Amino acid sequence: MPRPILATIHVDSMKQNLAKAKSLSPGAKAWGVLKANGYGHGLERAMRGFAEADGLALIEVDNAVKLRELGWKKPILLLEGFFSLSDLHTMAGYDIQAAVHCDAQLAWLEQVAPQLGERGIRFDLHLKMNTGMNRLGFKPEAFAAAHARLSAMACVGGITMMTHFANADDIEHPLLPIAEQIRRFELGAAGLPGPRSLSNSAGVLLHHALRNDWIRPGIMLYGGSPGGGGAEQFGLQPTMTLSSEIIGVQEIGAGEAVGYGSRFQAEAPMRIGVVACGYADGYPRVAPLGTPVLVDGVRTRLVGRVSMDMLTVDLTDLPQARIGSKVILWGKGLPIDEVAAAAGTIGYELMCALAPRVPVVED
Ligand SMILES: *Cc1c(COP(=O)(O)O)cnc(C)c1O
Repeated sequence: MPRPILATIHVDSMKQNLAKAKSLSPGAKAWGVLKANGYGHGLERAMRGFAEADGLALIEVDNAVKLRELGWKKPILLLEGFFSLSDLHTMAGYDIQAAVHCDAQLAWLEQVAPQLGERGIRFDLHLKMNTGMNRLGFKPEAFAAAHARLSAMACVGGITMMTHFANADDIEHPLLPIAEQIRRFELGAAGLPGPRSLSNSAGVLLHHALRNDWIRPGIMLYGGSPGGGGAEQFGLQPTMTLSSEIIGVQEIGAGEAVGYGSRFQAEAPMRIGVVACGYADGYPRVAPLGTPVLVDGVRTRLVGRVSMDMLTVDLTDLPQARIGSKVILWGKGLPIDEVAAAAGTIGYELMCALAPRVPVVED
């Protein structure tokens, strides 16, 4: 029998979450964001889950090619753009779109523009504006000039104007509220033609009035919350359930400790369940005492340090629990965001960190 740990991907829930994103943004097209192996769900599986998306967006050009080979016919967008001149030839060969966020990318495009233009290649590109995130993009005051450079190239087709929000989940942010990012965007984009793409999940869920021609939801499609509220409150469904089983039980007395470092000490006699799941499966090692875990559908708590292949839970109030009892680490019945919050991180990181050694099935 295989080790009992398992990730179950709920492809139907992926479809429903996408439908939710689209219903919240009437008139806009939707990229399904597939970064990081589809937020840990698998590229091909995410492609099927988001078959109704108008396009798929990711980071790596080789994975973009893979999507084409898997039969994806609609648009594909590289969110960080291209990393070299040679990527442009791959993009041309597979009809892949990209963000353009810096002068170096404009220069690469200019180098190949005459040659590719002559061959009839027309890239649809997404000119990115830095409206305060200060990662990628042209400053508002440099945007029109970058737009003009792109427009002048023979190999450029459509130009979408794009920006990314730093704080869409926190309307009252004291330093950079979303309203300020929108103000800068409008300033930089003033008078320029073409479609616009602004909203990530938080934008879609919390800022319905934003004008988008293309939305870029990621985490919400995977049933996770971008912040600013729980995923359930937004009507999203979990798409990944990480489950395992109890593989050992220890009865311990008052004063005895559990696990590496003997960090947890029992105050009274306890039953401890050992779960086949550890940090080498993607469970966060930093998860502290009290992190919620479901055993036979009942909520209990993590005790002791998470080790590589195992973690330990409190079974004192679960007398029926025994070897083989079903354990849910996150997913259906236990929101991933709750586990993440206990561990001081976000659902995104837990999903993306699902380890390759965990077998994955679909239901
Ligand atoms: C990751 C990413 C998204 C999706 O963000 P979520 O918070 O997961 O919805 C959208 N746009 C860009 C540019 C991204 O990098």
